[in-house]
Amino acid sequence: MAQSKIEWTELTWNPTTGCNKVSQGCKFCYAEVMARRLKAMGLEKYKNGFKLTLHEDALKIPYTWKTPKIVFVNSMSDLFHEDIPLEFIQRVFSVMNDNPQHVFQILTKRADVLIKYHKQLNWTHNIWMGVSVENEKELWRVDLLKKTRAKTKFLSCEPLLGPLTKLKLNKIDWVIVGGESGRRPRPIKEEWIYELFEKCENADVKFFFKQWGGTNKKKTGRTFNGRIYDEMPEVEILF
Ligand code: SF4
Repeated sequence: MAQSKIEWTELTWNPTTGCNKVSQGCKFCYAEVMARRLKAMGLEKYKNGFKLTLHEDALKIPYTWKTPKIVFVNSMSDLFHEDIPLEFIQRVFSVMNDNPQHVFQILTKRADVLIKYHKQLNWTHNIWMGVSVENEKELWRVDLLKKTRAKTKFLSCEPLLGPLTKLKLNKIDWVIVGGESGRRPRPIKEEWIYELFEKCENADVKFFFKQWGGTNKKKTGRTFNGRIYDEMPEVEILF
């Protein structure tokens, strides 16, 4: 596990690492850059760099956390990568099922694999399922997410690369919005953010504005509409 700098979570937990690119949002994948860096630093877990790797050992980790946590699952991979066997995904779910005191946030770009497997997974209340949607071409992911049995469903619109005018927020609990950061960020437009914000207001969906992004994300900050939007679904802690 690692403390996370990601604003909408506390910890990251990576039972798999590595991935490959599937859409425009992947262009400057942070996990790829980090995996290469960690490999160069000699970390055993990243000896395969960004090649998909399963980590049996990591399955024990959530049992060791002493206090309830909010955990981003697979910040360095995609749990629904087509090369991860269903049996391994089921084992990851068993760990989450066994630990209802923690909230686990899973985010995928592979909603086609998610929908293929979702009936064979145990969706306890503490598993939040999200899809990334960077532009309208990827709205199909939202349609498939809505069909799953996940009790809390969310969207990560980051990096937001275009308007999501056709997005409908029925059955969605939470929307995270952010611009791209890094050396060559693709620009975000305020009107795209505002449109999503209004959709959330009208549908009573929680809205989280993560960042404007750009080449200096600290400077551009997180203020939108004159304030910080840090909304999240209610965290239900069960023991
Ligand atoms: S799906 Fe996610 S982890 Fe995989 S390449 Fe794309 S951005 Fe990176």
